[in-house]
Amino acid sequence: MLNYPAPLHRNAKVFDLLYSHRKTRVVQLTPLLRALHEAEKEYRLHCGQGQFTYATSVKTPVALANGEMTALYNEHLRGKNGREFYDEVINDDQGLPKLCSYCGERAAEQADHYKEKSKYPLLAVFPANLVPSCGACNWNLRGAKNKFHPYFDDIGSSKWLTAEIIWDGSFNPPGLRFFVPADFVGDTALAKRVSDTFKDAKLSRRWSSEISRMVAQAHRYFLSTTSIRARENHLEDMRTSHLETPAGPHQAVIDAMLCSAWIQDLPASL
Ligand SMILES: [Zn+2]
Repeated sequence: MLNYPAPLHRNAKVFDLLYSHRKTRVVQLTPLLRALHEAEKEYRLHCGQGQFTYATSVKTPVALANGEMTALYNEHLRGKNGREFYDEVINDDQGLPKLCSYCGERAAEQADHYKEKSKYPLLAVFPANLVPSCGACNWNLRGAKNKFHPYFDDIGSSKWLTAEIIWDGSFNPPGLRFFVPADFVGDTALAKRVSDTFKDAKLSRRWSSEISRMVAQAHRYFLSTTSIRARENHLEDMRTSHLETPAGPHQAVIDAMLCSAWIQDLPASL
């Protein structure tokens, strides 16, 4: 999981810009803008205090037609009128895709509504409620109750992901499992959010086939030499070929392989 600075644009301002492109508009805009401002204030206040599951007390003005916010999001924020806001969420300063804030591994292709737009329509086009996400994380995390928040949680460079090598002492390649250590960070609520996001995004299952191939490749190499130094060097070479964040799955597995009984005790088959 990865932190990013929250986009700074104001909710009402973004709405106003997008709404100016709509053909049918309400006459009294002021109550609408006030509600959007209140929704932003409530969001920032609760998220700033780590209360991510709050229920909103801001009423959606009746003047706002059903589906209007979704239309604004789909047709305008992702269309050319508001694209700069959308791109700022998913791309870095160079215009290249950020890494997904949930898996920290794939490129962000989409913006995930941290607070769902169906239940929080007033936050549908609010950039600080839009999180860079890959398609798989966005899909798997729909409806998730306790998500990591890349703008308000502070995970820093914590090693939130750990892998364990499971070797039965035979010549067969070992198995592995991923987990989020309960105490990887002092904040237990944050640790639980990361752990729940890890499970809900199905990260372990999504990574397993690719990472198993990497383990099998290391296994084949290990069978060719009993030199621990040579085996360690081989793994370090693998590490440099997988440039990702320090808490990425490849790094976690390489760390686990380096301190496993398997790297020490697997006999060479030659
Ligand atoms: Zn992802």
